Amino acid sequence: MKLDATDLRYITSDEFRVLTAVEMGSKNHEVVPIVLIVQISGLRSGGVNKILGSLAKRSLIAKVQNSKYDGYRLTYGGYDYLAMRALSKRDSMYSVGNQIGVGKESGTAITPLIVDASPDTLHQDIYIVADSEGKEMVLKLHRLGRISFRAIKEKRDYMGKRKSASWMYMSRLAAQKEWAFMKVLHEHHFPVPRPIDQARHTILMEFIDAYPLRQVAELPSPGRLYSTLMDLIVRFAHAGLIHGDFNEFNILIRRESGEPVVIDFPQMVSTSHVNAEYYFNRDVECIRTFFRRRFNYESKLYPRFKNTLKEGGGRDEDAFRLDVVVAASGFKKTEQKTLEEASCWAHYP
Ligand code: ADP
Ligand code: MG
Repeated sequence: MKLDATDLRYITSDEFRVLTAVEMGSKNHEVVPIVLIVQISGLRSGGVNKILGSLAKRSLIAKVQNSKYDGYRLTYGGYDYLAMRALSKRDSMYSVGNQIGVGKESGTAITPLIVDASPDTLHQDIYIVADSEGKEMVLKLHRLGRISFRAIKEKRDYMGKRKSASWMYMSRLAAQKEWAFMKVLHEHHFPVPRPIDQARHTILMEFIDAYPLRQVAELPSPGRLYSTLMDLIVRFAHAGLIHGDFNEFNILIRRESGEPVVIDFPQMVSTSHVNAEYYFNRDVECIRTFFRRRFNYESKLYPRFKNTLKEGGGRDEDAFRLDVVVAASGFKKTEQKTLEEASCWAHYP
């Protein structure tokens, strides 16, 4: 799907009101009845109907004929739109399109930067966007729940009537989680992109001039990068964290310096998580396996979970437990749990 930047600027305020009304109504209705949209928007019903038609034509909303009533639902395109508009209203993101070197033929639409092919991760959309000075940034749109919508429906008994079953809510939660971790990690000088802004299901971050480790065919000294990466896993653990998806797709290698930058945090877990050891070992194994296969490099040295935790015990833990800092920063344990459950269904629908 392409995001269209021209629309960002040329939507009328009434159109925006109606779109927002559909979004608000979506929180409690799978299909938002037209009467409710009229009511929330506070506009005349004739006008609303016309606007609904034009928003549907631009695929920001979709008409759904229900057995009981006709209504509309917000599309992912509409949700993307609202998020991008919020970012541009706050001047975090000025425009997308002509300013940057992608999507030239179309002029206004931007094309996805990367399609992550890792089969066991959920696919997210990554776009290059720019601020008012033309400085490039990365916009990541989380897409959680749509794919697993049926799975979530089947679990409805289990979920009860919680609104958390909604794809909008779930993808926003994923973005908020990633944002919380990126911020805390960046503040503590971990090699991660600088977080810039967050809105709805999106994150705006620094663009790293790099390529994924996955694309690196040869290294002058694989042992050096190997130890840097293992040290990083240890540093995470000493700060109470496990990346959880530490693999060649989520490690970027800077074009200039060859230094690694770690990305993609929605699955990060605390070292106090019940399965912490399993996640820790999996991260370590990912790196060992990749280095063995790709660079024919093997080392007897690799971190063990228990030793790593013991070593970490020396310093003032409370000041340094980033998992605790994140929890305190507003990303609650219960939300974390909801997200874990949902990702699980999304992986195995
Ligand atoms: P996903 O959840 O789809 O795996 P990622 O956050 O891992 O999303 O990003 C997917 C790809 O997009 C990465 O492998 C990387 O190539 C590119 N990418 C993501 N963030 C950045 C960034 N800040 N700078 C440059 N490239 C990025
Ligand atoms: Mg990834």
